[in-house]
Amino acid sequence: MDLSKMTLVSARISLDTKEFSSVELTEAYLKAMKEKDGSIHAYLETWETSARAEAKAADARIASGDTAPLTGIPIAIKDNILIEGRVASAASKMLENYVASYDATVTTKIKKEGAVLLGRTNMDEFAMGSSTESSAFGPTRNPVDISRVPGGSSGGSAAAVAGDMAVASLGSDTGGSIRQPASLTGLVGLKPTYGEVSRFGLIALGSSLDQIGPLTKTVADSRVLFNVIRGHDARDSTSLPDSETKTAKPKVIGVPRSFFASGVEQDVLEQFEKKLESLKNAGYELRDIELPTAPYGLAVYYIIMPAEVSTNLGRLDGIRYGHSVQAEDIYTVYAKSRGTGFGPEVRRRVLLGTFVLSAGYSDAYYRKAKAVRALIREEFVNAFESGIDAIVTPTTPSPAFKFGEKSDPVAMYAEDIFSVPMNLVGVPAISVPGGVVTREGVQLPVGFQIIAPHRFEEVLFAIGEDVEKA
Ligand code: GLN
Repeated sequence: MDLSKMTLVSARISLDTKEFSSVELTEAYLKAMKEKDGSIHAYLETWETSARAEAKAADARIASGDTAPLTGIPIAIKDNILIEGRVASAASKMLENYVASYDATVTTKIKKEGAVLLGRTNMDEFAMGSSTESSAFGPTRNPVDISRVPGGSSGGSAAAVAGDMAVASLGSDTGGSIRQPASLTGLVGLKPTYGEVSRFGLIALGSSLDQIGPLTKTVADSRVLFNVIRGHDARDSTSLPDSETKTAKPKVIGVPRSFFASGVEQDVLEQFEKKLESLKNAGYELRDIELPTAPYGLAVYYIIMPAEVSTNLGRLDGIRYGHSVQAEDIYTVYAKSRGTGFGPEVRRRVLLGTFVLSAGYSDAYYRKAKAVRALIREEFVNAFESGIDAIVTPTTPSPAFKFGEKSDPVAMYAEDIFSVPMNLVGVPAISVPGGVVTREGVQLPVGFQIIAPHRFEEVLFAIGEDVEKA
């Protein structure tokens, strides 16, 4: 069984035609995990026993002819998505021993399909980061080059799939955390439309920005997994009403060169232009567009996201959940529990968020950021209303970087320059493999990002498949 070529779609066919069983498929992945994950560290915990039992149950279901798209497919889940009875730590000491008492809605959906859950994957602590270096349990390495990061925060979910240790995985994306690791490991990563996938049971980072989405080897796989996890959920107040995803044959692609051209490394830009050229040859019309406010997205994001972080993480106080340090009075319990339970990046953002929301400063920072967010949104809406079906950019300014290379937090934040505007606006975006560049003699993948109007995920898949073919 060649796991390096295994996709969700191909595994589905082989399982249904009984070319191999889910038990055999699962064993192959468990073996790969044992052999490789010592050096990659994609997983924080693996579940051999239950995975085998789920595979057996899936085989019985397949034999009875009652098959769903994920029946018997081995999948990995990011450590911030709840699975009843399992630890969900968000890669933080704060929740190291926290056992989820219920399933996230996406978990319920994939369980119902009969998927095989292989384990929970490493991530930046509370999904804050772009390299998985901020995990409290040690970093994940990029399977393409283990001296480099796999991106983040869903770095474990990306490395599990890129390292052939899962068929597909789920991650979460608040400012790029699915697309950036997909870009750095050569995968397809989708951030769905805000509200399309339920956030119920996702440990919140920035509630107005977060979305769960798939990391897969192909666009076809991304579509399958997306269709399983999407849908209205009464338990998420921001969930969109059910509707068919909108389809339209995309023809016109907008290219906002002034947004990205100056910030991207030369050979990454060349790879991007090559893909653009092939889209043109495939019959798309390319149109230069301007998104003058988009470059401010990063500044806006690093006000709004920490503000929401400081609120969301307020519940982790040493009393209600998780890590707790006993002390003489309640204030000291809070201070010591939070001071020792949270890592430096989390503390930095809680401080920043508390500051931008504080009485004296919220007008100058938080309210202004909200106003600029509305402007960015308007620019995207106007672009799409002017007859553009999709917008494209490189996913990241550069390929995978070395451990420790971005120890300055602001350098790390700059990784997200092309991905955060879509979370601020709520539109769907996908990163598909967009060629390779060479660093120190190693070929490293770079991503090609496609952005569509709200609920037009099908446009992303259509163009994504053309990029794949190019
Ligand atoms: N890298 C970004 C951050 O650090 C995005 C994180 C995410 O999408 N979860 O906030």
